[in-house]
Amino acid sequence: MSADDTIFALASGTGRAGIAVIRISGPCGGAALAALTGRTAWVPRRAMRVCLRDPQGEHLDDALALWFPAPASFTGENVAELHIHGGRAVIAAVMAALSRIAGLRSAEPGEFTRRAFLNGKLDLTQVEGLADLVAAETSAQHRQALRQLEGALGSLYEGWRRRLVAAMAHLEASMDFADEDLPEGVEQQCREEVAALRAEVAGHLALGSGGERIREGFLVVLIGPPNAGKSSLLNRLAGREAAIVDAVPGTTRDVVEVAMDIGGLAVLVADTAGLRSGRGRVEQEGVRRARQRAAEADLCIAVLDGAIWPAVDGDLLKLIDGDALILVNKSDLGGFDEPLVVAGRAATAVSAKTGEGIAGVVAEIGARLGRRFAAGDAVATTRLRHRHGVEACGSALSRAEAATAAEVMAEELRAAAAALGRIVGRVDVEEVLAAVFSEFCIGK
Ligand code: GDP
Repeated sequence: MSADDTIFALASGTGRAGIAVIRISGPCGGAALAALTGRTAWVPRRAMRVCLRDPQGEHLDDALALWFPAPASFTGENVAELHIHGGRAVIAAVMAALSRIAGLRSAEPGEFTRRAFLNGKLDLTQVEGLADLVAAETSAQHRQALRQLEGALGSLYEGWRRRLVAAMAHLEASMDFADEDLPEGVEQQCREEVAALRAEVAGHLALGSGGERIREGFLVVLIGPPNAGKSSLLNRLAGREAAIVDAVPGTTRDVVEVAMDIGGLAVLVADTAGLRSGRGRVEQEGVRRARQRAAEADLCIAVLDGAIWPAVDGDLLKLIDGDALILVNKSDLGGFDEPLVVAGRAATAVSAKTGEGIAGVVAEIGARLGRRFAAGDAVATTRLRHRHGVEACGSALSRAEAATAAEVMAEELRAAAAALGRIVGRVDVEEVLAAVFSEFCIGK
């Protein structure tokens, strides 16, 4: 396997479709196109109608072909795209013809994007953004992935990294060439820049893990006493029979989770075992898991049994945290005096049976999650990998600020820049020297 090979792959999904797209990238891209179409003259990036034939001259398909000459292509190499009819036999025949052309082989998973990265077309965060865009299932994931693919996160980190490299260059110049004619106060300027960067890094981390949640999904946990109607509510929310509903208390012994789209956010709603001091071992284990899941939740929904209202389960009250949404279920039974108040907090009457109040609950879940994790126009980390890198950068900046010796400070700045370089996939030590030589007339 070599990066000089010309690779090809089906870029569209598998299965029957109107159109399928085959992508070819590498030095033999033009030759491959010529072999299949008999044509050698192309207008870059313009679709051409072509007749595809295999090397024996057999007609394979009438298709569209596009030619993206290097370097203005997705991978940065010569790229050709064939838009063929999306039948399985057509795809198989064209792929077989391509594999018989010298210098061509089928691509490994992610190989086109890998080449785009290696050729500097995308940084690592953009590569992740592309993967997220293809995987996006909700509108928030879609928006976030697109923003990342456009480079919002990468350019933030790369901007910081460039500033660090510049500060480092100034500092090292002041150390190495102390006798030369350097501007006054270089070290002081550098310290000011480090303080400014550290504040920006801290602000970015303070945005929290909302971006990660948008990508991975928010966790909403239903808690409440047995028979309150948690399973019924989950089914109502999911619009399908996802959890077992039973009139005998204590049937939900494990945690049932259903993934859903609430207001454009990917949300995992978990139904937990009823919270009560369980009789059997299995129930106790269920309650333990329920508590654990509730502790991890982005939002807890406390479900009270309206059939026994206004009696309220004492154990449940202890578990309702400040952010929990409190519901009193079974409003269809009547007898609720609104407004409902539980432990001094407003509660909402709903009926899992009739659906009363459910639309409002869905809107409220979306609004609360959105509020808690909204970063406004600011871009937040979308993976733990970014968070760890930015944290490492922040720690190195703090140490640089505390350093008295310029050498120590420079070393920490190097560590801070390297941490950011790892996030975007760029670590270049020569850059410091380049910056020194471009900004100071040292070889005078
Ligand atoms: P869980 O133990 O909290 O998960 O409760 P379930 O969802 O299993 O429901 C317990 C019982 O309450 C079942 O018999 C349900 O049919 C009933 N139930 C659930 N929601 C409602 C509701 O909104 N109204 C009425 N009348 N009964 C309900």
